[in-house]
Amino acid sequence: QPRLDVGQLTHRGQVRERNEDHFALPPPNLGAETLAAKGRLFVVADGMGGHEGGQWASHSAVQRIMAEYYGDPTPDPQYSLARAIRLANTEIHQEAQRNPALERMGTTVTAAVILGQNLLVANVGDSRTYLLRGAGAKQLTQDHSLIAQALRDGTVTPDQVEMHPYRGVITRALGSRPTVQPDLFREKRQPGDRLLLCSDGLTNELSDELIVATVSRSKNAQDASRQLVSLANRNGGRDNVTAVVVSLNGASAAAAPVAAPRRVPAWLFLLAAGALAVALALTAVVVFYRPGRTGTATMVAADPSSALVGTVSADAALESPVATSVDEVAAVPRSSATATATVSELVALAETETPASLPP
Ligand code: CA
Repeated sequence: QPRLDVGQLTHRGQVRERNEDHFALPPPNLGAETLAAKGRLFVVADGMGGHEGGQWASHSAVQRIMAEYYGDPTPDPQYSLARAIRLANTEIHQEAQRNPALERMGTTVTAAVILGQNLLVANVGDSRTYLLRGAGAKQLTQDHSLIAQALRDGTVTPDQVEMHPYRGVITRALGSRPTVQPDLFREKRQPGDRLLLCSDGLTNELSDELIVATVSRSKNAQDASRQLVSLANRNGGRDNVTAVVVSLNGASAAAAPVAAPRRVPAWLFLLAAGALAVALALTAVVVFYRPGRTGTATMVAADPSSALVGTVSADAALESPVATSVDEVAAVPRSSATATATVSELVALAETETPASLPP
């Protein structure tokens, strides 16, 4: 399993009365066997629906997906993840039918599993998972939204997105229908990769370029999450904003098997020591010539105070200085107010959706 450095923050934003986003991190006490079979799962959900509905839906989603993923004995993480998301959908949909106070609720979700060299990512709705590699940001998920569909169809150009009346209208959500089809994506990880799981409250306020620049400059994953949320709030904070950053640093934490000791001539030790010194010098050069590289890696959820399911208030983060120039902040495009679709709208809009796909 790779060594991970994890940062997480969710914030109500500057306009909304409640925070209807939730996230979940892998349990800190996962055994070696579970880690080898299941890896580490991260989830972000963005709830919607009147009164308590949005909060209920997103909270239920992250908890249920986490529990079902690790509880499923099937030796196929992809199946386990899709099953967990479907079960979360069933729970939210049934509760919405049962409880009139929650009847219009729904939630997006994006989930990412880090399992050895493999990344497995899923989504429903417009919460996203990005792969940040070098100077680039690759959106691993595809939004289930009218605007994303229109962009794929070519009926809307990227510069028309900002003012589009359907901006923010999603076409797939957990809870709005009896069944749901999550999309799944696979990727191979590389040393230095970072994953960002976020709600649209972040991506509507920050360009991909600013996200990459902010994360690259951060001291560690927690600093990256804090700065991303801070910047989204400075740019308007028109929605709840959540950022979970996972740095996949360096080599595997599991030590390579050590060979049995043998008698070795003394000159070989001297040769090895010399080679080691050269290697260390080269490593130092490489490290110093790679800007933005994070320092020591920490194990996931090493902080015992970090909640498994989080709604960490970020008021303190807002007051902290952000190491970003005014030019960059000013360069971020300001969007029109984002409309959030009601679940009844989603049901109607889902008819227009294209069939679910599972990219290779
Ligand atoms: Ca949102």
